[in-house]
Amino acid sequence: MITGSCLCAGVRYVIDGTIDEVSICHCGQCRKASGGGGIAVCPLPSSRFRLLQGQDLLREFRATPGKARVFCGRCGSPLYSCRDDLPDTLRVRLGSLDSPVTCANRYHIHVDSRASWDTLPEGEPRYPGARPTA
Ligand SMILES: [Zn+2]
Ligand SMILES: [Zn+2]
Repeated sequence: MITGSCLCAGVRYVIDGTIDEVSICHCGQCRKASGGGGIAVCPLPSSRFRLLQGQDLLREFRATPGKARVFCGRCGSPLYSCRDDLPDTLRVRLGSLDSPVTCANRYHIHVDSRASWDTLPEGEPRYPGARPTA
């Protein structure tokens, strides 16, 4: 079982199963939302994500209509995002994990929007925009 929490630890959650995919988004919205070069997320069926505490602290911001970015209203930590048209999928912010996880399936998206100071690791797939659907 994988555990995660926000910076103030008011929100705690568990993820059932494993992290099978690490998508690192460098788009302008993710850079602003994270304060960093991008956000590493794992898309998960929402049934595998269980909130243990802090439901009352959750707030959301919609930079794009139809997509909620959910964060802790006390400390500001990004926790996950969810699209209205894909309500059964959460994109969990992996920086909030407390458990060590490894995942070979890593890739970078929206690299054309990355910050001028941002560098990408060699050898990991990268896409100029969204990841093409297979
Ligand atoms: Zn918090
Ligand atoms: Zn993004």
